[in-house]
Amino acid sequence: MRHVTPAEQEYLETLLRLRETDQPLTAANVSRSLGLSAPTVHEMVKRLEAAKLIVRDPQKRISFTDEGLEIAREVTSRHRLVERFLVDVLGIPWYAVHEEAETIDRYASPDVIAGMREQISSAKTCPHGHPIAAGNRMMCGVRLADAPVGSQITILRFEDEDPELLRGLHDAGVRLGLSATVADSDGERIVLRHVEGDTEIDAARADTIAVWSSAGNPGFSPAA
Ligand SMILES: [Zn+2]
Repeated sequence: MRHVTPAEQEYLETLLRLRETDQPLTAANVSRSLGLSAPTVHEMVKRLEAAKLIVRDPQKRISFTDEGLEIAREVTSRHRLVERFLVDVLGIPWYAVHEEAETIDRYASPDVIAGMREQISSAKTCPHGHPIAAGNRMMCGVRLADAPVGSQITILRFEDEDPELLRGLHDAGVRLGLSATVADSDGERIVLRHVEGDTEIDAARADTIAVWSSAGNPGFSPAA
C-alpha cells in the first residue's frame, strides 16, 4: 500500500464513512464530520485529488479512485480492528476506544496489527457495529429517530463516534444489540422500553443510531 499521511488517512476514512451511510461525498459533509473549516478541507481535497486518490465531477461531488478506495478500506478496517482489540482484549469501555484507536492505528506496524487481528479473529464488527471488513455493511436499518411508536427495534450501529456522545448514550443505558419497543416519540425525544426499564433519548442523538425496526427498514440498501 502506498504511504499516506495520518491526515490523509483521516480524510479517506471520513469519506468512506459517508459512503457507507449513503451520504453525498462533498467537502461540506467532510468539514461537518471532522469539525474543520471549509478552506482547510478544500486544501486537503485538492491534495487527495492531485495524489489520484479521489476525483471530483463538475458539481464538485467526490468519488474514490480504485486506489483511493482500497486505501480507505484498509485504514478503516485497521481502525475498527484496533477498537475491537482494545475492548475485547484490554477491557477498555466501548464508548472510550475511538480516539485511543486513532492514535494506535496510525503508527502500529503491520506485525502488531496482525497480532491484534489474531486475538480477535472471530469478530465481524467494531464495538460500534461497523464492519471490520470495511464497506461490507450487513444490514443498513433505519435511524432510531425514524422508528415509529410501537415498533420493536434492535440497535445495530452508532454512526457518530464522538466520545462525549457515546459516553452519554452509555450512561443512559444504550448499547449495541439492545432490543426495545419504541414507547413514545414526539419529534423531540424518543422513549425506549426494554427489560431494564425506560430510556429517553433526544431526537438529535437518536438520529445518530441505526436500528433494525419491525416496522420495516426502507433505508436498507446494498453494501457500499
Ligand atoms: Zn468504531
